[in-house]
Amino acid sequence: MTEGGIAAVLVAAGKGERLGRSAPKQFLDLGGLPMLEWSVRAFAGHPRVEDVVVVLPPEAAHAPPGWLAGLVDRRALVLVAGGRTRAESVARGVAAAPPDARILLVHDGARPFASSALIERVLERAASNAVVPVLPVTDTIKRVDADGRVLDTPDRRRLRRAQTPQGFPGPLLRELHAAAGHSAAITDDALLCEAGGATVVTVEGDPLNLKITGPGDLSYARWLVDTGVIRRPRWE
Ligand code: C5P
Repeated sequence: MTEGGIAAVLVAAGKGERLGRSAPKQFLDLGGLPMLEWSVRAFAGHPRVEDVVVVLPPEAAHAPPGWLAGLVDRRALVLVAGGRTRAESVARGVAAAPPDARILLVHDGARPFASSALIERVLERAASNAVVPVLPVTDTIKRVDADGRVLDTPDRRRLRRAQTPQGFPGPLLRELHAAAGHSAAITDDALLCEAGGATVVTVEGDPLNLKITGPGDLSYARWLVDTGVIRRPRWE
């Protein structure tokens, strides 16, 4: 990698239990490709991304499926075993990225449709800030106590849904993950910056950059591909 390049960490070490399938969801078929291959292509095929680290369930990292093992030989792609929480998986991915990366992107492997334009929007701001792509909230959100009683209703106009890829100056993200624990409450990486007082800027997210969590999400994603709304990322 050239001095101070751009690296992406794709976290795909979750169990995907909410999808209710026995196979890991990252390898389920989506329009003729394993779901994870969509994001691998999006980042490894992006002209500005030089290195990609894919964080996998330990068994898959040690014995990767053929399509992924083949890519490791042909691209600047590294596979590492994830941890028990997302934060631990990201930390392991960051540790495996080139130490001099100027910008680090972190992306959920469960989001197969990160467009090149979205990656570009994040990269535009990530050299000097933590960046989160966001969307407006259309539901009214309630904050509840442990018993489900409503505490209050935040002003919806000030709420946003956070997506990935999130972008960071490399040294900042390394520092934050080295200092953070691996709590399951750390559901994204921008949160670490907020807690540390660093500025986090937002850019426009993409409604099609969905996160495949439940079976309905997978059906919708397949429909988007089958109807041609979403095309496979180009791959030379
Ligand atoms: O838990 P959640 O659904 O928010 O997971 C977001 C992403 O983090 C998914 O792509 C999942 O595979 C990944 N993850 C991970 N290691 C874990 C838990 C989640 O890489 N232990």
